[in-house]
Amino acid sequence: MTDTRNLTRDALAAMDAADPLAPLRDEFDLPEGVIYLDGNSLGAAPKAAMARAERLIRQEWATDLIKSWNTAGWYELPRRLGNKLAPLVGAGDDEVLVTDATGVNLFKVLAAALALRPERRVIVMEGSNFPTDNYMAQGLVDFLGRGHEIRFAEKDEIMDAIDDTVAAVCLTHVHYKTGHLLDMAAITEKAHKAGAIAIWDLCHSAGALPVDLNGAKADFAVGCGYKYLNGGPGAPAFLFVAKRHQEAARQPLTGWWSHKAPFDFTRDYAPAPALTKFLTGTQPITSLALVEAGLDVFLKTDMAAIRKKSQALTGLFIDLADERLARFGVTVATPRDADARGSQVALSFADGGYPVIKALIERGVIGDFRAPDIMRFGFTPLYTRYTDVWDAIETLAYILDSGLWREARFRAQDAVT
Ligand SMILES: *Cc1c(COP(=O)(O)O)cnc(C)c1O
Repeated sequence: MTDTRNLTRDALAAMDAADPLAPLRDEFDLPEGVIYLDGNSLGAAPKAAMARAERLIRQEWATDLIKSWNTAGWYELPRRLGNKLAPLVGAGDDEVLVTDATGVNLFKVLAAALALRPERRVIVMEGSNFPTDNYMAQGLVDFLGRGHEIRFAEKDEIMDAIDDTVAAVCLTHVHYKTGHLLDMAAITEKAHKAGAIAIWDLCHSAGALPVDLNGAKADFAVGCGYKYLNGGPGAPAFLFVAKRHQEAARQPLTGWWSHKAPFDFTRDYAPAPALTKFLTGTQPITSLALVEAGLDVFLKTDMAAIRKKSQALTGLFIDLADERLARFGVTVATPRDADARGSQVALSFADGGYPVIKALIERGVIGDFRAPDIMRFGFTPLYTRYTDVWDAIETLAYILDSGLWREARFRAQDAVT
């Protein structure tokens, strides 16, 4: 804990000046005067994305036309970007594909996991997880119609929920709302001892903290391209299949890109070898290509340096919130132990989290709201400064102290929060 009472903005400006990651902020196209604390929901735009989009549309699409599937490497893109992403999540070569949406990938790997444990019927999941994971699992279970049961357990109940009836444990590493970090290695080990498959959702981990899928012996994983990886709005997601499962595993969305010889145009399906069978169909190349601009920024640093700064930023935000916001009834809902959280901080404010966030956005500090009472702030060490933390807290304190947030215009609910 920092003693925030004697802290000054100047001291934080000095920390920014000495920060080895500070130059990376220049890789991003951020608007002047905005403090962006929502990179956990939509990552900022890498400057290189604009040049990539321009080359893709003018040269590869408009000029070279269909030849680009071969000449510009479009066809190989899911595999090539997967290999570029792999080191960020502790995966090896040919274990990651960048493709489809997170939810779709979860459907594929969960179906594959259940098929690897045909005699078992239980899936362990966290009920408070981001809904799409649970919805996808419920949809799959319904569709299979084979009596699978989802056993919901919250963080401290998960270990006890794993027994030898469990086919798969399917969990999100960093909780989307609270930022709580689950122990991937311990839970995966327990799952394996019980004979179950471990699937990890890395939506709030990939690019936010070091992840070691192979070190933890994870079986499958999925994750998001548009959050901490800065791939662009709705960017394709990724999936991981451990080498040892790649021959036996099967997934149900058997489109032609998952066929062993798509350009033979045969009548009957035959799976591609290894990882490729986890593709489905033609990829959104314009979106997919931009993912690379985000990944390339990570080549200029490493996840250990990112984690160190992330823990410092989130720790500072928590300490300042305790000191300056508690008296307004704002409480910290994220673990105070830096090793037990991801790269975001949730503040709970029962009186009106939503209008406070709206007032904050109006004043140039962008966070988001997660019902019923969570104000969520993501800290992205590639471009967030220590002074941003200070200024965000100042603005929050002003909004709460002045009562600005009570003004009627902050109450109207937008479609996307
Ligand atoms: C953001 C997020 C998703 C996103 O799923 P989409 O298929 O991209 O809409 C899924 N799971 C979790 C845990 C998330 O945080």
